[in-house]
Amino acid sequence: MPTLTVCRNLHSNWSILNASSDSEVCRFAAEELQRYLKLLSGCLLPIQDKLREEDVFLVGLRRDIPATDRQNIPVPAEGFDGYAISINERSICIAGDNERGVLYGVYDLLERLGCRWFYPMQDPKDPEVVPKLDAVSFETGTWSIASPIPIRLCNASSFFFEIVPEIMRTQLDVAMKARYNGMAWQCDHRSPVGDQYREMERAGIIDEIKKRGMLFHGPAHSFQHFLRDDDYFESHPEWFGMRDGKRVHQVYGGSQFCWSNSQARRQFVLNAERFVLDCPALDIFCTLGFDGGPARDCPECRKSTPADLVFQLLGELCDRLKESAPRVMVETSGGYNPVHEPPQTMSPRDNLRVVWAHWGRNYSDGYDAPDYCWKDNLELWRKSVNNRLTLCQYYTDNFASPWIAAPYVIAMESDRRYVLKSGLDGIYMLMWAKGYWWNHALNHHLAGRCFYDVSSNLMELIHDYAVHYFGSEAGQLLSAYYQQWATEIQLCYRVKDNSRPEDREMLAQQRQKWIDPAVAAVKGDPVLSYRVAKVATLHGAAEKLTQAHAMRDKIDGYRASGDFDAARKLLEEAKVFTDEVVQHMTCVAELNQGLIDAKEVPGFITANIKGWLEKEQEAIDKRFVGSSLGSEPIPDSMTTLPAEVMEQR
Ligand SMILES: [Zn+2]
Repeated sequence: MPTLTVCRNLHSNWSILNASSDSEVCRFAAEELQRYLKLLSGCLLPIQDKLREEDVFLVGLRRDIPATDRQNIPVPAEGFDGYAISINERSICIAGDNERGVLYGVYDLLERLGCRWFYPMQDPKDPEVVPKLDAVSFETGTWSIASPIPIRLCNASSFFFEIVPEIMRTQLDVAMKARYNGMAWQCDHRSPVGDQYREMERAGIIDEIKKRGMLFHGPAHSFQHFLRDDDYFESHPEWFGMRDGKRVHQVYGGSQFCWSNSQARRQFVLNAERFVLDCPALDIFCTLGFDGGPARDCPECRKSTPADLVFQLLGELCDRLKESAPRVMVETSGGYNPVHEPPQTMSPRDNLRVVWAHWGRNYSDGYDAPDYCWKDNLELWRKSVNNRLTLCQYYTDNFASPWIAAPYVIAMESDRRYVLKSGLDGIYMLMWAKGYWWNHALNHHLAGRCFYDVSSNLMELIHDYAVHYFGSEAGQLLSAYYQQWATEIQLCYRVKDNSRPEDREMLAQQRQKWIDPAVAAVKGDPVLSYRVAKVATLHGAAEKLTQAHAMRDKIDGYRASGDFDAARKLLEEAKVFTDEVVQHMTCVAELNQGLIDAKEVPGFITANIKGWLEKEQEAIDKRFVGSSLGSEPIPDSMTTLPAEVMEQR
């Protein structure tokens, strides 16, 4: 195939033309192209608005591309946020079906030159992957692409609660590059929600989102903001939910407000509408009850179901917003407590969406599996809103999922099949907790890419990641490593909870075959060494966790053979060793490299690492010979909600 050289040895006579000069997003796309070409080659190509016939990158909306060039562009791919690229001897044309498509097209072209963006730029020691090139060349050709899924939201960990603009900027930037098309925001419960929006506005976050043409979604768990305890509890206690016969606040241990009270609903709708009108950047107004609160404990509410009551409440809101803010989509939750069961009688308004969430799902398979445990619930919700359903995905949540994340390829493939078959229209990637940002970013990348380009092969994406991020030699090794974690999907769960001898053997082999050789392969390269060391550190943590399981197995063995003295002695050693494991997890967290969240260690993680000791002690004291808990099955889903776990720690 003929190649086209744009610049060589710091020289170029090419320029960039933004064909859609009135579009801020297209201007940004042209600037991104200019900025990265400079980083790649050292050449600064001018951005012009005067048409040139030759040696030009044409960037813009398809309809704005001059007719002579437009005829070279392939027909649009069917779907959303699409773009087409044509590279011929005279020019390179990036034509977006919409503004986002233009920016995706620029990133696609830059990726063909070796650029990669796998992580938010939160760590100055780990820069983005931008090779230095003597020449920038492209093969001639044409292609076009689009996603069948119109809503692809990234709920990055920095878009939770407190507002830290510098991290939010890096996370929204990498989300767009991974082909998400919107940012989702979870507001804080401690200050007025409108103030939080304006803080993001002042900090320039809203501008950064809009500059990329991204959707803005939120504020998620927020019912309590639109009917505040402080404003109404004293004057209207009957508007609030009941617990044990008493009206209570919307806080942990309290209740959702009284959804059957028409006056409460009216005030809620007025306040919510005011918020929407005050927040013009909001594209999807998603609001749901405060996290962890039950609903429907008063006699009136008990006549209906939580879902029917919520559909009634949101229906009244939809009717208002249809008049006052018709552009805005309205969304609430389903599947997630306390609105787990689908509605029985209420139909949703045609402008209501549902974000459906199965927290703590096991990734041994996905929604497409015939025996997926919440299939009926998912299907009923999906049908109830006529496919206007956003699937909340937790691939990037190390809170509900293993601390040392595997690439959740099996689940992603199954989920993607389900999405494509059913035709539902949204996905939502929830990233939590904040201190895991590096650990879960690979899944963020894989999911972003696979739900945009639905023909992409996930194992190939892992390989592409490994060879670009760790360098070719170490990358070959770590590609195999990650692919094994992806295939042996129960390994990551058992590393956390109950590894077996064969798991420990697998970890030892992985170290010997892939980890140690990868470390050796990048010796002397500071950036690659730093990256490979992150993998090695997490692998080391996995080994440590499973060593504690090995002790537990051995103690069980002693008890089974009736040797309670040996069991008792080893248990004392295990108490010391598990302290060391906790200490090790603390050290990994304190590296502050996005591997483990420091706040999680003292509560959640420690409880898991040391939780078995007491039961084992009891079993020894009672001279019990069966297994204490070593063979407990891995739960299919966790029954505790995040807020409840948070409260317990
Ligand atoms: Zn009630």
